Amino acid sequence: MLTPHPHLISRRALLVGAAAAGLVGTAPFAALAKAPLLGTPMPGYYRFKIGSIEATIVSDGPLTLGPPASFFTGATKADLEKMLADNFLPPDNIVVQQNALVVNTGDKLVLFDTGMGSAKIFGPSSGRLLANLKAAGLDPQDFDAVVLTHAHPDHCWGLMDGGTRHFPNAQIYMSEADLTFWTDEAKLGIAEIKPFIEGTRAQLLPNRERIVLVKDGQEVLPGIQALSAPGHTVGHTIYMIASQGQTLCYTGDVTHHAVISYTTPRVEFAYDTDPKLGVTTRLKTLDMLATDRTAFLAYHLPFPGIGHVVKQGEAYRFVAAPLQTVL
Ligand SMILES: [Zn+2]
Repeated sequence: MLTPHPHLISRRALLVGAAAAGLVGTAPFAALAKAPLLGTPMPGYYRFKIGSIEATIVSDGPLTLGPPASFFTGATKADLEKMLADNFLPPDNIVVQQNALVVNTGDKLVLFDTGMGSAKIFGPSSGRLLANLKAAGLDPQDFDAVVLTHAHPDHCWGLMDGGTRHFPNAQIYMSEADLTFWTDEAKLGIAEIKPFIEGTRAQLLPNRERIVLVKDGQEVLPGIQALSAPGHTVGHTIYMIASQGQTLCYTGDVTHHAVISYTTPRVEFAYDTDPKLGVTTRLKTLDMLATDRTAFLAYHLPFPGIGHVVKQGEAYRFVAAPLQTVL
């Protein structure tokens, strides 16, 4: 909520002042150039270059997660709420974005992560990826590859809808560990993750023959290298994208929140399959990105989620990259 500035002068006070100064005639000018409110948001995509690669961050819309203390553990409720309030964020409800990445290498058109698809388990505002791809001038038919960081709903449930492939010509790249874990029939008996397993089986199993399994350190596509970054899931993988001496790291869910994950990187995240390993991977990855001054994209940070990280003692600070208005 924005509050009026105390020094704002009312229109009436201005007119009275102008009349007193002899500036207003007997037939005051009536301003008629009234325009309707447009009600349209900013574009849900952002385009930039990585060397000769054309990159486009495409939003799948926000996810509403609820009170921070219910899934961030290792800091008190009061500390979490203060961290959020100090950063002008609502203290009682975490909202995160979904920043998927498209890269066009000139030879291959590649999408990293797919968003939630039509599922609304984290609120009504997700599922915008296809509309935003269209707005960005990108046709789902043209994609050669969909690369997954991991097999959570907000990263892979946009592959299919009701048996229809959204990216019918794409190979799918992901780790074997995540494919095995999140399609495991035996886990249908675990109540907390049963809906995730069911939904992910419906996304991945019909595409099994299209899936290419990626290994740690492998160049999966020209200029795109996979790096194992487990903890958030057993096979969580990040990707280094390089061209002409420039590099962007696509970090998936190594971090989840622009304040909490950086100010208190040791705070554990309840959606991590192995929260302690998630912390280890977060510290290792942020250290690497800070030391090498590598630009990165974090899937859940405020749109478009691209920037750098600075180490400050035991903490880190995310520094958003200045947005370019000229390509
Ligand atoms: Zn996620």
